[in-house]
Amino acid sequence: MANGPYLRVRVLGAAAGGGFPQWNCACACCTLARAGDPRASPRTQDAIAASADGERWVLLNASPDVLRQIAASAFLWPRAPRHSPVVALALCNGDVDHVAGLLSLRERQPLTLAATGSVLSGLFERNVLLRTLQRFPGQLTRVPLSLGHATTIAGLSITAHGVAGRPPIHLRGVVAPRPEDNVALEIAAHGRRVLYAPAVASLDGLPSLDAPDVLLFDGTFWSSDELVAQGLAEARAEDMGHLPVQSSLGALAAARARRKVYVHVNNTNPILVAGSRERLAVEAAGCAVAFDGMELDA
Ligand SMILES: [Zn+2]
Repeated sequence: MANGPYLRVRVLGAAAGGGFPQWNCACACCTLARAGDPRASPRTQDAIAASADGERWVLLNASPDVLRQIAASAFLWPRAPRHSPVVALALCNGDVDHVAGLLSLRERQPLTLAATGSVLSGLFERNVLLRTLQRFPGQLTRVPLSLGHATTIAGLSITAHGVAGRPPIHLRGVVAPRPEDNVALEIAAHGRRVLYAPAVASLDGLPSLDAPDVLLFDGTFWSSDELVAQGLAEARAEDMGHLPVQSSLGALAAARARRKVYVHVNNTNPILVAGSRERLAVEAAGCAVAFDGMELDA
């Protein structure tokens, strides 16, 4: 890392919805993790923390595990009787595994929430529970993100890029799908750039994967038929809005990013197991599999 100010990036949770192990799953990976096998470290549900100064942090996605993630991260602990270094959140989409943590961040703490208009309306016009974050003026300041336009929050430049995906399951049939339902977030500060894309259904329309200092990419499934082959579900990866690692690995191998990391990894994905054939293929392509607590400062 060069001298001078830098962009702090930490993985709070590396697993997809359900976490790892998942409470109701005894697939091969979950069984290893539950047994305490050192090859299969447990992981909480998808979220990243970023900061331009180490004092004010922005959470990228509000994981259902956010309280455990804060408890495990000293840099997110309060520094006064009523205080939090967490000043804002930015959302990639309205999926439950990316928004449920909002309900755990009440306790009269002022926060800024940045997301696209369709994600904000899905949250606040379709959901009375989130009124708990509107108990007093200034509790939650909503910042709409327009696709392709940078917004500065706590010294971080945040840009949402629309990527192929699916609207949240709970909104299907309720609202019409829109291009801003699912975004990759580009975070920049001090001339460093991070691209965080935990849900990508297709490489078409993606912003360039070249030259961000850190690329965090959808690692939900290894193969299209992962859940089908294991008898766990009937949907293919692409039907669930996730390009399998097998289909993105070539593009990531060719990308000129300094660190290339798969995030949002589903508990069924064999890349979670150190030394597996699939993990070795990821590592041979110059990529890594995220784990909770991973430091990716740029
Ligand atoms: Zn499992």
